[in-house]
Amino acid sequence: MFKTIFNSVHMSIVVVDKKFIIHQWNKETESMYGITSKQVLGKNLVDLFPDLKRIKLDNYIKSVFETGKKCEIKEKFRKTLLRGDLYIDYFISPIMVDNKIKYVSVASKEVTERVRLRHNLQEKNERLNILYDIAKTLFSTLNLEEVLFLILTGITNPKMEGFNRAALFQLDKTSQGRIFTGIMGVGKKSGNEAHKLWKKLLNNPRYFEKFSIAYNNFMENQNPTFNSFVQGLGFFQKDLKRNSRLRGITYFKVGRKKNKPPKILLDFFNIKEFVLVPIYIEKELFGIIYVDNYKSKREFDKSDIEFLELSTNLASMAIQLSKKYEETYESTIRDSLTKLFNHRRFYSILKEQTTLAKESKGKLAIVMLDLDYFKKYNDTFGHIEGDQVLRDVSSIILSKVRNIDFAARYGGEEFALILPSVDKDEAMNIAERIREAVQEHEFKKSKEITWGRVTISGGIATYPEDSKKFIELVKIADEMLYKAKSKGRNKILTTKK
Ligand code: GH3
Ligand code: MG
Ligand code: MG
Repeated sequence: MFKTIFNSVHMSIVVVDKKFIIHQWNKETESMYGITSKQVLGKNLVDLFPDLKRIKLDNYIKSVFETGKKCEIKEKFRKTLLRGDLYIDYFISPIMVDNKIKYVSVASKEVTERVRLRHNLQEKNERLNILYDIAKTLFSTLNLEEVLFLILTGITNPKMEGFNRAALFQLDKTSQGRIFTGIMGVGKKSGNEAHKLWKKLLNNPRYFEKFSIAYNNFMENQNPTFNSFVQGLGFFQKDLKRNSRLRGITYFKVGRKKNKPPKILLDFFNIKEFVLVPIYIEKELFGIIYVDNYKSKREFDKSDIEFLELSTNLASMAIQLSKKYEETYESTIRDSLTKLFNHRRFYSILKEQTTLAKESKGKLAIVMLDLDYFKKYNDTFGHIEGDQVLRDVSSIILSKVRNIDFAARYGGEEFALILPSVDKDEAMNIAERIREAVQEHEFKKSKEITWGRVTISGGIATYPEDSKKFIELVKIADEMLYKAKSKGRNKILTTKK
């Protein structure tokens, strides 16, 4: 009778005695493991299936014999020969004969599907959380570099078995063709580097909110060899085009007929499988993100691709926003004709620099420059030609000042320079070099000028000798400029020492 009951339940039931000798092995167990009861009855369960020890099933059975209490163990992972990887729930109960525990029944149910579904859901949920974090943080920063770093770290975030490496390439149009240039890489060239970086990032659970810090660490202290490796890479767009039109996310694998991986990337990254994600900004290809699983060798699946799609859509939105922001910001501080700082920005920089000079007991020079007889030039050749002279003179100025100097368009044909840590003599040298270069320069209409050449006059004032107030400095430099004009132009003057 027992046998009939055992065989009619849809659960695997195995009955063993104290020595783990198998007394029952029902039909469901036969079909679950592909082993008939004939093959196992009278044999030792733990000897037959040594991996049961790994999940400590022997200990659980022992304790049921000792305590007489049922026990449940859930979702134990087993590798089986016939059916591959399984998750199993076990229910172990005592079987009493003459008031004594003579046997123990081990009932088990396969729950692989349930566990898989839950894992998938958890993973989806994790990924949604990450997308949410990315989105939230993206729109709180408008710094393009930080936005890009955030996207790449989001993609490679190991919290969700992320991708191992992500690299961003930006498309540049050059005279030799369209070239992808490596901008940033997150991941590892060596496994160790990534491990260290991620350990540090993950120790801070809110790292997305503090990603500026993570970003700076990454850039400065982490010895990010993968990042510098990526920054050294570049390749022509045509090297990719043979293999992919880059319309959307493209999955590449060595040996596949479709989408053969571009050789250039195989050479760079030394891997057989990867994904390229194009980023379009206003219908133009901005760049591509390269993603792979260098370390884990985990294969890409459908949900990976979906996640990449979503996160890179966010990326392109954020890049668009931050580019717009940077353009708008630039336009508020720079003059659109010459790209030099504008009048307003000149004053805010001058104020900052005067304060800095005061604090460090340093020096500072300002130079005011004004084109000579420029009205004549405009009247003779027209404003368009005049504008070109202003652009040329701006380039000359920029080529003669140091990286730490500031050049502004003060007004129509007036320029102003702020030269930190510079005294009168040095300022005079710099201004003279500019004056000479303008005088020597062949402007488009130079040959047609009847009154001489295009020249420039200038006045210099220095901190602290001439004044300690920045407004006063501008006034004095302007007075010197007027003096230079009245003394015949094409001259630079400064106050007497
Ligand atoms: P000076 O040697 O005394 O400086 O003579 P100038 O003719 O340069 O001086 P003035 O201040 O009388 O004239 C400035 C001229 O600069 C007026 C205008 O024709 C020209 N100018 C000012 N801003 C612009 C500009 O944005 N584009 C062009 N093309 N010309 C400009
Ligand atoms: Mg003027
Ligand atoms: Mg002038």
